[in-house]
Amino acid sequence: MTGRLPEQLQEKLSLRLRYYEDIGIREFFRDRSSLAHLEPPLEEVTPQIVVTTTSLTYEGPETMNESFAPQPLITAVPKIGEGTLQTIREDIGDCIRCKLHKGRTKIVFGDGHPQAKLLFIGEGPGRDEDLQGLPFVGRAGKLLTQMIEAMGLQRSDVYICNVVKCRPPENRAPEKDEVEACSPFLFRQIDLVAPRVIVCLGSIAAQTILQTTRGISQFRGQWLEFRGRKLMATYHPAYLLRNPAAKSEVWKDLQKVMAELGLEVKRTKPAQTQA
Ligand code: URA
Repeated sequence: MTGRLPEQLQEKLSLRLRYYEDIGIREFFRDRSSLAHLEPPLEEVTPQIVVTTTSLTYEGPETMNESFAPQPLITAVPKIGEGTLQTIREDIGDCIRCKLHKGRTKIVFGDGHPQAKLLFIGEGPGRDEDLQGLPFVGRAGKLLTQMIEAMGLQRSDVYICNVVKCRPPENRAPEKDEVEACSPFLFRQIDLVAPRVIVCLGSIAAQTILQTTRGISQFRGQWLEFRGRKLMATYHPAYLLRNPAAKSEVWKDLQKVMAELGLEVKRTKPAQTQA
């Protein structure tokens, strides 16, 4: 086949390749012996998985959104598919990919509008979330709900999910291997919801998405980008419960998000967002 691929096919192919990259498949080989006189159409190219070794490195580059080679992200996901959020949930199944499954009550997949313009990413479920199977329903969740409402939205208008879907013991931060096992599902959720704006709540979410080791205070409140989508990192609501003074910083960040989404920006601090 000569010439350029049709644009729609190019786009489809690039989405598919990006997905393979997320799940750690980086090299593809074509059997050129069959191409002696004719290149096969692209759909016929059956990728052979050659390299699947991966690990999420937090020792990555100290810069973000610059030209650095993407770090490999995960070890393996047995099932590949685009589908729907339901398909992703089914692919997660009764997950035992990491040690967090041992202590969980319920997998906390995500909640909200499947085509939301705004997507929030937290760290991982806490006790209440683990019991209910829903993200951000405990104390920090109530604060997040107030923040969403202060933006003039309802929880059902946005999509909310976490980096890891099972509760880490004692609410500790998720470990590298746990993030590595779970984040491919998060990337698929982002691709499917396809929000205009992503808000990362806290450093684990921001560092996972941006693949950086930098502390969140270095880039909080700045517009960044993830796969062509606008990304804002801000403090986690649990941090705000401990440090209420930081609420005004978060509100400034959310006002930027509101402006980007064409929501009416209120200059004053929201009355309800008390811890
Ligand atoms: N903290 C998170 O990061 N996620 C939740 O779902 C709840 C608390």
